[in-house]
Amino acid sequence: MFNFLKNSLKNIYTQFSSKLTNLFTRSSIDEDTLNELKTILLQADTGIATTNALINHVKQEVAAGTLTAGADLKEVLRDYLTNQLKLPAPQNSSIFLLVGINGSGKTTFAAKLAHMYAQQGKKVLLVAADTFRAAAQEQLSEWATKLNIDIEIGKANQDPASVVYAGCQRYLTESYDILIIDTAGRLQTKTYLMQELEKIKRVIAKKLPDHSVNTLLTVDAMLGQNSFDQAQLFHDHIALDGIILTKMDGTGKGGIVFAIAQQLKIPVVFISYGEQPDQIKKFDSTGYVAELLEG
Ligand code: GDP
Repeated sequence: MFNFLKNSLKNIYTQFSSKLTNLFTRSSIDEDTLNELKTILLQADTGIATTNALINHVKQEVAAGTLTAGADLKEVLRDYLTNQLKLPAPQNSSIFLLVGINGSGKTTFAAKLAHMYAQQGKKVLLVAADTFRAAAQEQLSEWATKLNIDIEIGKANQDPASVVYAGCQRYLTESYDILIIDTAGRLQTKTYLMQELEKIKRVIAKKLPDHSVNTLLTVDAMLGQNSFDQAQLFHDHIALDGIILTKMDGTGKGGIVFAIAQQLKIPVVFISYGEQPDQIKKFDSTGYVAELLEG
């Protein structure tokens, strides 16, 4: 299923799977094998908690006699890792509120998501709600023009919530299928940003009371665990439904997906892996684990 991604994400899969393949050929699972497994997982940004839990699980299987050789290790890892990613998926929604700090790939993702739905024949409206950064609005406008997608843009320094209000209004009156809202990401004014996002959520809830909203956070995969505190901050204020892992093409650290599931308990729903509009994929946990293990 993920095969077509391989060229772009090759780095991730090969770094993980080539090292694991070596373990899968062992005739027994000894202390050295476990240490090597631990190192591979930690180097891939899987995180201490998940890695230790996984190693303990493998040890238990070995002690119980249900895991004896490297060849069986693959199955044990497949089951364990897939289970780790079992989190309730956000409900289907036609409204996307994209949040994340500047530089995390939010605007690029907004364009990709819009393109994905437009390709499916949906009528899509983008909303550029970062009114403080002219460049952000320009960037999204350029994407919209290039991809032939409609966009709602506010004036410089206009209240972002009022741009969102106008976007919601247009969504209703012009019968759009999909609404994608790009927001600001100035982390230096944390409190203010969170208040702004909370207000935007209130506006959507008031204007579109019959719609659920998918609030998704863009997380730069290259930052690894460093971005988890930020994710938690967003989650505490505006209740995230899912995570978009961006810049997956630039990292060999595919384990971050498991660390996110374990620490944040928020499902990864999309991965984004380049600067072309079609470099977006709905996250599928079974396929992802299979690719990591098979390479
Ligand atoms: P924003 O500030 O969160 O809206 O981030 P942008 O969408 O402007 O992205 C920041 C930079 O990262 C830009 O130079 C993008 O071209 C680049 N970028 C975004 N997504 C990806 C990705 O998936 N892979 C790579 N390699 N670069 C990306």
